[in-house]
Amino acid sequence: MNIKEYFSSLFEGTHSLIKGMEVTGKELFTKKVTEQYPENRAELKIPERFRATLQFIYDDEGYHKCIACKTCERNCPNGTIQIITRMVDLPNGKKKMKLDKYMYDLGSCTFCGLCVSTCPTDAIEFSNDFEQAVFRREALLKQLNYLPEKEKPALALKPAPATKPEATDKVAPQDEATKVIEPKDVQTNVEQKETE
Ligand code: SF4
Ligand code: SF4
Repeated sequence: MNIKEYFSSLFEGTHSLIKGMEVTGKELFTKKVTEQYPENRAELKIPERFRATLQFIYDDEGYHKCIACKTCERNCPNGTIQIITRMVDLPNGKKKMKLDKYMYDLGSCTFCGLCVSTCPTDAIEFSNDFEQAVFRREALLKQLNYLPEKEKPALALKPAPATKPEATDKVAPQDEATKVIEPKDVQTNVEQKETE
């Protein structure tokens, strides 16, 4: 290294040092943003759309809208959701599949939101409650339908469909081709020809 290169490198180093000190110096006078958590828990403002954990949406009467279609389970890329169903008998004698347990493993969720965006009934959402730390991994496995299942009031029976109007002598065009010719009709045709 000659003398020229030496001074050039010294100048560059000094310039870089001053630049760095300039950034550090500015921070001396800016407002401090250090969070004193958990002492500031009461004033903490968590963005509404922050995805902390999946949860069921219950209405005021304790009903949820999950129809156990398993769309969320199928769309979850890493098997975080497991839906356990059971068959129930309806008052009308039919059977229906209902939700038994909605299991969600917070420990494997990537918070991609596919489950929420594909749910056809908007039954689930993300809560922004970020304090989800636990001591055991098993505690991260949650049953989301935690409220006891409430049966909806039985639907009123539909009125019986109106009876069809009496059949008329007029035959619809499409029925003409498939009409079965009765023997008496043949006889009538022959008689008609004879009279002609
Ligand atoms: S949460 Fe939505 S997508 Fe998942 S099973 Fe229930 S209704 Fe279907
Ligand atoms: S956010 Fe993504 S990873 Fe988490 S449960 Fe929903 S689909 Fe699965």
